[in-house]
Parts: sequence; C-alpha cells; structure tokens
Amino acid sequence: MPLKKLWEMKWTEVVEYAKKVNDVVIVPIGSIEQHGPHAPLGTDALNAIKVAEMVSERTGAVVAAPIWYGAHMYHQLGFPGTVPIRTDVLKEYVKDVIRGLANAGFNKIIILNAHGQQWALISALHDIVPEVKVFVAVATLWELARKTINEVCEEPFRHADECETSISLALYPELVDMSKAGKEHPPTFIDSKFLGGTTWLPDAGFPHHNISAFYFQKDTLKLGILGDATKASREKGLKIVEAAVNTLTEFINQLLQKFPPGKSPFK
Ligand SMILES: [Zn+2]
Repeated sequence: MPLKKLWEMKWTEVVEYAKKVNDVVIVPIGSIEQHGPHAPLGTDALNAIKVAEMVSERTGAVVAAPIWYGAHMYHQLGFPGTVPIRTDVLKEYVKDVIRGLANAGFNKIIILNAHGQQWALISALHDIVPEVKVFVAVATLWELARKTINEVCEEPFRHADECETSISLALYPELVDMSKAGKEHPPTFIDSKFLGGTTWLPDAGFPHHNISAFYFQKDTLKLGILGDATKASREKGLKIVEAAVNTLTEFINQLLQKFPPGKSPFK
C-alpha cells in the first residue's frame, strides 16, 4: 500500500480517506535525547517515525506529523544534547493533536511512542477520550517487540545499548558510528532487582520502575549509554523492527475488521 503522510495530503482528501478507505492515524512520538557518542539525538523519534511508516505501508493507516520532542524522567535532565519538554506542556500538545485528528475524521488514533514517557501519554489519553469520543491507544515500541528483544539481545534493554543501537543500525545505519560505541553500567542507589525497568523482568512493563531511585545521568554516565552498545548488530535490529511492525499491523487490522472506516467504537 502507498505510504500515507498526513502533511502531504489535502484536507478534502483526508476527509474522504478517513470516511471510506482508512480512519486509523498513527502519531509517532520520540525525543531529542543523548544516545551515546555513537547514535543520533533523534534516535527515539526516528524509530517511531520509521516504524509508523512501515506500518502505514502494510495497513493503509495515515502517519501524522511526528512529535520530535518528549518528556523526560528527572534523572535524564541536564545531560548535554537532551532537550526535555515539561510533562504538562507535552500532555497538552498531544491532546491538541488528538483533537485536530479527531476533527479530521480519524476515529482510531494510535500514539506510537519510542521513548520512556508513558506517564504523560497515558494521562493525556485518559483526559481526552471522554471529550473527543474516538478510540485512542498508546503503543510503545519496546512493548510491541518485547518478546523478540528478550530473544535476540544478550542484555536487558535500557538505553542507547545493544537493543536500541541495533534498531538504529537497522533503520538509519548512516547516522550510527559504531567506532564510538561503548559500554556503561552505572551504579544505582539500591540493588537493581528493586528497580524493574524495561525488559528486566519477563512481565515488566515499560518503564516499570518498582522503586524510582536513580542518580542523575549527567553525574554518573561518561558516554550516555546504559548497557553495552558494542553488542549491537543490524541483524538483531531488523528482527526487533519486524516484530514491532507485525504486532502493530495485526492490531490495526483487527481494529479495522471490527470497526470499519467511518465507524467509531464509541458512536
Ligand atoms: Zn532511546
């Protein structure tokens, strides 16, 4: 199917497309955040955008204009290169984007998140759905591919590490400099078994911080890597990307089967 980008469509085309062809829209959201000396600041946003585009080609869903900046956990603040957006600001921004997309006729809106900012997005979702009365879901890249990540990576996924760098190598290898990749395992306040995390535990959510207790990254990280980026490979990344694309594609197809274009679960 042809890739559909919202910003390249005319308003009349959007209304017609949502009514008759496909009323699912994917909003990619990432962050501008340090990802070590080897991977670009836009890693999270690029991952969300590229996966959304692949899903669009398979399902006909429209890709909305991406949200490049993201909200950040406190321990990430102050690291050079990271540009945090205040949670309340991002939340209101996301809600306005959802309002606009609902007004254009999209009955199914999927926020595709590739950065650890669920608290802001889930909170926006619960605020906005009663108002717009369209289906809104928050999907997180790491959750979509968690099983595959655990299978192909030696270490649990954290940040700019084996897993995330593998995805970068799969999607935009020209922006990765593996000669600068390194490994870092910074200290924690307490034993990491209390902290949960991304794929630390088989059934852990992301981020699943059982107890939030972190040093500021700028004080403890030399490179900005949490894990071992030298273990990354394009092959691992391709498997992870494929798993995420498959899961989201299946989800959208089921959604459309149950609620065809023009039909909202809430109307
Ligand atoms: Zn990232």
